[in-house]
Amino acid sequence: MQEYNVSFGEKEIALAVERFGSPLWLYDLSVIEKHIWDLRFFGIVRYAQKAAPNINLLSRMNELGVDVDAVSAGEIIRALRAGFTPNQIRFTADIFDKDALALIKEFSIPVNIGSPDMLFQLHEAGIKIPLAIRINPGFGHGHSNKVNTGGEFSKHGIWHGELENVAKKATELGFTIECLHMHIGSGSDYIHLSQVVSAMERTVGNIAALVPELKIISIGGGLPISYKRDEIWHIDLEKYYNIWDSARKRLSNNLGHYLQLEAEPGRYLVANSCILAAEIRAVKKVGKNLFYLIDAGFTDLVRPAFYGAYHHISVIHKNGKATNEEVEAIVAGPLCESCDVFTQEEGGIVVSRKLPLAQVGDLLIIHDAGAYGSAMSSNYNSRLLAAEILWEKGKFTQIRRRQTFEQMLSNEIGDE
Ligand SMILES: *Cc1c(COP(=O)(O)O)cnc(C)c1O
Repeated sequence: MQEYNVSFGEKEIALAVERFGSPLWLYDLSVIEKHIWDLRFFGIVRYAQKAAPNINLLSRMNELGVDVDAVSAGEIIRALRAGFTPNQIRFTADIFDKDALALIKEFSIPVNIGSPDMLFQLHEAGIKIPLAIRINPGFGHGHSNKVNTGGEFSKHGIWHGELENVAKKATELGFTIECLHMHIGSGSDYIHLSQVVSAMERTVGNIAALVPELKIISIGGGLPISYKRDEIWHIDLEKYYNIWDSARKRLSNNLGHYLQLEAEPGRYLVANSCILAAEIRAVKKVGKNLFYLIDAGFTDLVRPAFYGAYHHISVIHKNGKATNEEVEAIVAGPLCESCDVFTQEEGGIVVSRKLPLAQVGDLLIIHDAGAYGSAMSSNYNSRLLAAEILWEKGKFTQIRRRQTFEQMLSNEIGDE
């Protein structure tokens, strides 16, 4: 079984933890690079930075030819700071807050609107930028209800039945619509994919006359990766691309001009590129269960607690000697919160996992933690945000220092 998707190994991880502390996020740039290369067929690859927004990752991706999506004012600031030009950024959201609107105005950042009100607010603010419209085609998809991306109970996008009105209104107000966008995802489910593709074709067909300047069809993100080591699969990207590309060609023919395809992956680019290393701080028996308690919690990686998400887990023995002995163990964190467990299933069911017999001081490695890992960390329980380091050209560089207690308190002090 191939344990690691990253190219550094146990020795490097142990040294890094000694140097930078624990818990620790360790990214491998070469994995990100490979996953960008996988998507080379697409005219535009736009990274949905919310998956892992460190500006050092963003600037590397910029160098690798990727554009970027921003979903908040903070993400616009990150993209600009990482060296993206305003034209390489697209703001995708269902509302503008005031900070975001001000930045969009200042830098003329292209916008993907997900609610009709956004159109009126752009107009009122005197902002004239090319528009993308995010469409809710009336159905969705996602690995849990919490990540469903379409349908009548989704807050995302402009309802397909409203689209014609919105496009008319946009034209009246003098906007050009350069991109139609549908972030539904389909996983490796090609039947679902063909539904998404036909929904896109139907929708674009319906409003073709209203979008003479359409240049881009964005298929959103949602490209999956496999988290489980006993069911490793890879999405057939060529097949995936070809299905979209035939639709693109048909639409191009209909509209009478060239259209570009854009992919907008978050998870796919970064999930496999990063591990979370933590130290086992207690090994205790609780009735018939054995717990490994580690110094990382859902304040670091929330996916298991939030979605019952599965991450592969391995152990690095501190004395360097791997035993072959395995035990059933539950892996949990330090928080005063009973759902602070890394081995749980959807619905919060705690399960044990067959893991190497380990001791206090051994490292516990949570794999494939690059997407929605560090990005979703919090200061709950007044825990500090962990450091992030990047493996690049055979060495580790710190790309985010560990937060300090002073930083955590800084906005609460001395402003009475
Ligand atoms: C989150 C998001 C993505 C990325 O989703 P992944 O599943 O991580 O690929 C892409 N586009 C939009 C608009 C998103 O909100």
